[in-house]
Amino acid sequence: MSSPAAEPSPNKRRLFVTTALPYANGAFHIGHMMEYIQADIWVRLQRMLGHEVHFVCADDAHGAPIMIAADKMGKTPQEFVADIAAGRPRYLDGFHIRFDNWHSTDAPENHHLAQEIYRALRKAGLIAERSIEQFYDPVKGMFLPDRYIKGHCPKCDSPDQYGDSCEVCGAVYGPTELRKPYSALSGATPELRSSEHYFFQLSSERCVDFLRNWTQAGDAQGRPHLQQEVLNKVREWFTVDEHGRGGLADWDISRDAPYFGIEIPDAPGKYFYVWLDAPIGYLASLKNHFDTGRAAAHWHEASRTQQDFDTFLRDPAVEQVHFIGKDIVYFHTLFWPATLHFSGRKTPSQIHVHGHVTVGGEKMSKSRGTGISPLRYLELQLDPEWLRYYLAAKLSGRVDDLDFGAEDFVARVNSDLVGKYVNIASRACRFITQHFDGRLDYLGATDALREAARALAHDVAAALDAREYARALREIMAHADRINAAFDTAQPWVLAKDASRRAELQDVCSRALAGFWTLSVLLAPVLPATASRVARELFGLQRDFLWSDCAELPRQVAPYRHLLQRVDPARLQQLLQPEAKPEAPQAPAQPSIGIEDFAKVELRVARIVDAQAVEGSTKLLRLSLDLGERDAQGGSRLRNVFSGIASAYDPRALVGRLTVVVANLAARKMKFGLSEGMVLAASGEGPGIFLLAPDSGAEPGMRVS
Ligand SMILES: [Zn+2]
Repeated sequence: MSSPAAEPSPNKRRLFVTTALPYANGAFHIGHMMEYIQADIWVRLQRMLGHEVHFVCADDAHGAPIMIAADKMGKTPQEFVADIAAGRPRYLDGFHIRFDNWHSTDAPENHHLAQEIYRALRKAGLIAERSIEQFYDPVKGMFLPDRYIKGHCPKCDSPDQYGDSCEVCGAVYGPTELRKPYSALSGATPELRSSEHYFFQLSSERCVDFLRNWTQAGDAQGRPHLQQEVLNKVREWFTVDEHGRGGLADWDISRDAPYFGIEIPDAPGKYFYVWLDAPIGYLASLKNHFDTGRAAAHWHEASRTQQDFDTFLRDPAVEQVHFIGKDIVYFHTLFWPATLHFSGRKTPSQIHVHGHVTVGGEKMSKSRGTGISPLRYLELQLDPEWLRYYLAAKLSGRVDDLDFGAEDFVARVNSDLVGKYVNIASRACRFITQHFDGRLDYLGATDALREAARALAHDVAAALDAREYARALREIMAHADRINAAFDTAQPWVLAKDASRRAELQDVCSRALAGFWTLSVLLAPVLPATASRVARELFGLQRDFLWSDCAELPRQVAPYRHLLQRVDPARLQQLLQPEAKPEAPQAPAQPSIGIEDFAKVELRVARIVDAQAVEGSTKLLRLSLDLGERDAQGGSRLRNVFSGIASAYDPRALVGRLTVVVANLAARKMKFGLSEGMVLAASGEGPGIFLLAPDSGAEPGMRVS
């Protein structure tokens, strides 16, 4: 018998979590980031609670739109998708979104799984072959993909809808059902031609019965598969009217060559429609995660179990959780569970559906991709955790749209995060550092303090687990209010003047910091980077917080160091209205110089080894730069350079970055010390200073010419 310690805890959840696979024909927009942040917060909570989580995603690589876009750019579809995929980490890392694996639906695992699942469905007698009339573009000489036929929605008559689904009413239909169709490739009115297609028989009694039950049921733990409002919508799709119209229809899962996709077994020239193999990409990414050994070796202790993909998915305790937007509910609540069930696989445990992001009340479209650019957000040096906090503060477990408002953003971040949360640490740390050498001590019983922390953590975990993030953050901020109020009532600044009340002062500040510790634990899923710094730098923990840390009492605190900046509304405005920004007037042209003049300037690549604020200056940062130089002993010689970039950069964010330096500028004695060079940065009429950086691969000391 194994020891009890080796047994998995009965309360330990085993989770397979995905976000929707982004279509690999463009960069991420704010809607993607919202979904990833929502899922990432949920996953981080589960991990902090000690549950086992495998969190994966992939690029949705197939389909005619990518084939056509690649062709336009003179690339193969594979090259086109690889270029898109190469840009993904900038966004994901930038917003602290930590997937365990990122794969592609064009990967071998997905080809294999899609064909295997199809064969199982065929064996189950659910694949039918039918000749259909399909739109053919007589100008382009090809059958038109759904997305390249536009027209009026057959259900709600909205104009300009694609051939597969309606963005207005959510209906899914065949392209020939569109009214007033036209080819989006050539503008021609398409002709009907016949072609042999494969159908998944969703309208069969077996499928309808299964889905009717599944959509209303829940998983083994009693959690419903669908949110109530999603279920209400799904019920409409089952409804057949008195004329026999409506109800589930068979699903056309094949496309004719030329098509970028997965070949249908035993059907030359036929490919799976992209929506057949896209969700199978969830499984392919998980399989790749297991097969490469990453599932066992990385990310978190809990997943270091020796097992493979098939064993994992066969475990009835494993919960399969998908985060998706409301525009793809039909695919995930009908096609996907039916595909899985009738191919003998585990069906999803929960489908978590969220609304869209609107900006200033304007609807964004996934396919049109308007609104806030996440990359520009990062380029403007806006803190990624501001966005995480802001989105979380507006997210609930419902399907409502989320409106991004600039004033709202500034108010929430500045008043909640800086004014309430960080404020506690900056105020209480000062007294503890000054008077008690960083030691915390508590007068009298601390049971009530710890009990309150435990109760709060329990409520917050329940709210976060139910994706009621706004409610969780309201509870957390209400607690921050209580801590600040208790601190103010105790008037530590008065206690500090009275030598006989030292113990009281220490107690007041210790309790405030214990509260700050608890808040940091509870905020860690939303603010992972800040919480990690609080744990490690402020409280000297050698690891990140776990949920069970919530009621611990810290005993030591380091001197307070700046944690979070306030949002500058002007900078946020730049994000929201990049087009409205007046064109920066051209700087007056300088007289031309010869190459010999330019050669006099010695530009070199430098690594920023350290960066510090300069006391007494709001403009300058003191940088220690490595230009690859050696001192007399052969050690690394660092240069001290003062740079006027303090308004634009948090010094910590600069450490480790490469930049370009004028290396032969005469050293200059300044009020704060000697400056041995000049760092290059760009600026214009508007606010913002932008440090120059070489492409990756450059090394300190390299000459720039
Ligand atoms: Zn419609």
